[in-house]
Amino acid sequence: MLVMKFGGTSVGDARRVRESARIALTKSGANVIVVSACGGVTNLLLEAGNAAASATAEARHRAVTAIHAKHSNVLAGLGDETIRLQTRAAVDHLHASLDATLHDIEQAHEFSPQLSDKLVSHGEKIMATMMAATVRDMGTPAEAVFTDTVLATDGRHGSARPDKARTRQLAADNVQPLLDAGSTVVCTGFIGCAPDGSTTTLGRGGSDYSATLLGAALDASEVQIWTDVPGMLSADPRKVSTARVIPDVTYDEAQELAHFGAKVLHPRTIRPAVQADIPVRILSTFQPTNAGTVVRPGGQSQRIKATTALKGLTMLTVDVPELEDLAAASSTVFHQLHEDRVEIISVQQSSSRRSMTFILDTLTSGCDVFVARLNSALEDLEVEITCLDNVAVVAAVGEGAANTPAMLAQFLAVLSRANVPVLNASQQSSNAAMVVVVPEDDADRAVQVVHDGLIGSSRANRRNSNKRRGMINEPYQVG
Ligand code: ADP
Ligand code: ASP
Ligand code: MG
Repeated sequence: MLVMKFGGTSVGDARRVRESARIALTKSGANVIVVSACGGVTNLLLEAGNAAASATAEARHRAVTAIHAKHSNVLAGLGDETIRLQTRAAVDHLHASLDATLHDIEQAHEFSPQLSDKLVSHGEKIMATMMAATVRDMGTPAEAVFTDTVLATDGRHGSARPDKARTRQLAADNVQPLLDAGSTVVCTGFIGCAPDGSTTTLGRGGSDYSATLLGAALDASEVQIWTDVPGMLSADPRKVSTARVIPDVTYDEAQELAHFGAKVLHPRTIRPAVQADIPVRILSTFQPTNAGTVVRPGGQSQRIKATTALKGLTMLTVDVPELEDLAAASSTVFHQLHEDRVEIISVQQSSSRRSMTFILDTLTSGCDVFVARLNSALEDLEVEITCLDNVAVVAAVGEGAANTPAMLAQFLAVLSRANVPVLNASQQSSNAAMVVVVPEDDADRAVQVVHDGLIGSSRANRRNSNKRRGMINEPYQVG
């Protein structure tokens, strides 16, 4: 059984939805389709929610009208009149529930994470309803399943963590019987259910993660991520025009790429696949016959395959002059980060200066507030804290290459030649990535020079490396 996930651009309008359904139906057997909301709908729902919280009627109306228009477009693509009318009624019902949620937000005068999750879940629920109808319209039995009855999570609204054991049980109860009866099952991506029964979400872009979680829960043979690019590329094609498809990526490499900013995969996507030993394939709905990228264990290639950047980060350095204070200071910093739900991108410790460097995501309070809180938590210890906003990490990824001193030297030399200021560099022996921290404004340039220098951009370079390795495709051009 396959799990096939179709992202927002792949279900952006009636034509794209039909094309995605057609692709899914070329795979034999009863499979699971996971869908995101129609492209742009999650952002519009968030706009509507913010407008409702601030009682800005015009902005709310504008967002809701745009959402209805997108859904009407998809509904109009249903050929069979009975299916179209039934589906329109189901979508109207969900639009009414969406309006009721906006009303609740307006009454609450605030857009809480819980109400936000409830509101945005309508995007995925409507798309799952319309995709199941499209599959039926093509003559194959299909059922929509809303995963706030299947994908069990904790109660962290906006960024929920899955409960894999319970998800397995719920998937066995609520999805497997439909598959056994021969139906294609269309599941909502992105959404889950908290222990109190409320709807949660897995974080923006989380439908990829839903696909591997469901794949693991249902013992799928493969998870396919169908998107708008023909695979995992050697860099973000919007930043590097010579980026090309990498046919084979190891689990570790994919994890590093997703973690350090390759948006094509949600950062948590790979872990459930690793645990269940399921290959993940990345494919394009625009070029469905291309082989794409397969992510699976093994296959170290001794070369750098891709480079990525993750912006909007903070670099926090804690200097602890007295060695005996180091463990106490670390535990306080980690505790504070955990309390504030700050995502840690990387941590480094230098023993000679007894200093620790943390690269952090989502420091919503900003450096000043966070440092003030940390200083008060650390008041019994002698420490010096520095905090720098607007930094980015740039990673060069390739198992078997990224952990060699020679490659680190090349990486730093390329950045130095381009005068990219390197604020921090790290390489770990077991790692598939080398990582530098740079000022955010230099990140795009850094990615470009690392791609040119370590992966290659000139035609001659490409031809040689193609011959040598027999595995790199032609550059992918963004349309
Ligand atoms: P979907 O809506 O299908 O989930 P996303 O927009 O979330 O699609 O992810 C696909 C996008 O990821 C691509 O359009 C591309 O711009 C971006 N991207 C960033 N880095 C990479 C990379 N290394 N390889 C492929 N795509 C990448
Ligand atoms: N629709 C959600 C988002 O826009 C989830 C996803 O697309 O994966 O973030
Ligand atoms: Mg995505």
